[in-house]
Amino acid sequence: MKFVNEQTYENFFHTNRESEFHKKFEIEISSLKKQLSDENIYPIMIENKKIFSKTKFKHVSPIDKRIILGYISIASDKEIKKAVKSSDIAFKKWALLDYMKRIAILKKAVIEIRNRKFELSALLTFENGKNRYEAMADIDEAIDFINYYCFEMEFNNGFVSNNYVKNEKEQYLSVMKPYGVWGIISPFNFPAAIFVGMTTGALVTGNTVIVKPASNTPIIGYKIIEILVKAGIPPGVLNFVTGSGKSIGKLLVGNRSVAGILFTGSKEIGSQIVRDSSKITLRPIIAELGGKNPVIVTGTANLDKAVNGVTKAAFSYSGQKCSACSRVYVHKKVKNEFLTKLIKNVENLNISNPVNEESDIGPLINKDAYQKYKQFTKIASKKGKILFGGSIIQDGELEYGYYVEPTIVTNISEKSSLAKKELFLPLVIVNEYKNFENAIKMANRSEFGLTAGIYSNDQREIDFFLQHIESGVVYVNRAKGATTGAMVGQQSFGGWKNSGTSGKGTGGKYYLSQFMREQSQTILS
Ligand code: NAP
Repeated sequence: MKFVNEQTYENFFHTNRESEFHKKFEIEISSLKKQLSDENIYPIMIENKKIFSKTKFKHVSPIDKRIILGYISIASDKEIKKAVKSSDIAFKKWALLDYMKRIAILKKAVIEIRNRKFELSALLTFENGKNRYEAMADIDEAIDFINYYCFEMEFNNGFVSNNYVKNEKEQYLSVMKPYGVWGIISPFNFPAAIFVGMTTGALVTGNTVIVKPASNTPIIGYKIIEILVKAGIPPGVLNFVTGSGKSIGKLLVGNRSVAGILFTGSKEIGSQIVRDSSKITLRPIIAELGGKNPVIVTGTANLDKAVNGVTKAAFSYSGQKCSACSRVYVHKKVKNEFLTKLIKNVENLNISNPVNEESDIGPLINKDAYQKYKQFTKIASKKGKILFGGSIIQDGELEYGYYVEPTIVTNISEKSSLAKKELFLPLVIVNEYKNFENAIKMANRSEFGLTAGIYSNDQREIDFFLQHIESGVVYVNRAKGATTGAMVGQQSFGGWKNSGTSGKGTGGKYYLSQFMREQSQTILS
């Protein structure tokens, strides 16, 4: 019993098969292009049956809005009710099924996802605009989540254990049991990893699920549901619904038969779910929310490492990661050198169609994000100084997608909305500091507490940072991502403060226990 990260690209790279990786990806891109058609209609799935709803919405690619990916069914109120009812009925058997049998089904699905990883990552590129490396990493992470949660379930003997006090005549057991039906709502930015991680965390622990993907990324979710069903998930255990988050969310939260809600998305919607749910019933709500993630670059830092780490964390996937770095506090004496190097590094980023091998950054997800970028770069130029970027890109084919420049801004007041709000855009604020303790205070002066990073070669600074930083995921001197790039089983991922409700990270030791309630059993012979 062991867990190993998938790391597809890295494995090809380290075995000198990088060109094979690209070839395989391109074959899938070509085949996908042939299949794309406005005649593709995607159903919802209840009791493992495909249902093509009467109403549908048009789904286009952010790479190029002329590309129609398909038409997506909009689940009706009646269908949502039916999904909850089916889940509730299916729960009785699924909860009692030996957990090793649940694991066997999920592991079968892993084999199929692994066999189809190039096809799925090519689709993901079209659907949410990730470049091929990040799209593959998203699929890899989905595989990792399933494998890791199966590993945790087995490692913990299905979460049944003897309590510590021993008595010859009495047995004291702690038995963790699933809650029932979970309503699961997923964001667009990790449409495979987060969607699958949440769903299979609930399933492996014996719960049943109604899952809704983000309306920007429903197809990848549907493809994975098909795989899970084919692997043997019984009817009613896993139901898939698409349509507006506002109406489906309201129906799931408003239904008393839904025993738990699992939401990953913005703080605004997460808070609303918590408020609305408390009016209906008392149930567990796991909400993984946004961030405004700071990085401190001290006077002793290795600036090359810091520049690489900040570039990746602020701009990969156009800053559309909850873990993206959006604030940098750099010591006054190295500010100019850091900025010169950062700008040079960012100038070299290739912003283009993410289907291309050389693309570092693709488009924003949709028109709303594009408008938000225009609005906030305007504010940035008024309230501070834009050092790099700040414009939309409309060269050639890019005019048909939502492409924008990575943007570096300085001299922004800590009180400004730019410094406080999660923007979810490729925009990083770099401000200077003189006093280290004050830099930590500024880093912590946020309603959020998801990820944070530091670059320093002074152990006292590092220790002070680790003792005082108020974030769930922290990194010291990491060049591959100052605040981003958590790996399942390596970094559990979850936020403090308004970044999350549970304080227990995904892909970590304490995650699965949230899907179960404890029963204390005392057995006398
Ligand atoms: P979002 O706008 O909050 O949407 C997330 C999901 O909620 C979507 O499926 C959406 O459906 C649905 N939704 C919309 N309105 C709803 C309502 N009233 N009730 C219930 N559900 C509703 O977030 P997003 O733009 O997809 O994703 C970005 C956000 O997710 C950022 O804030 C980011 O920080 C956060 N995030 C957090 C983590 C983490 O682990 N902490 C990870 C990834 C992302 P529709 O798409 O149909 O509107």
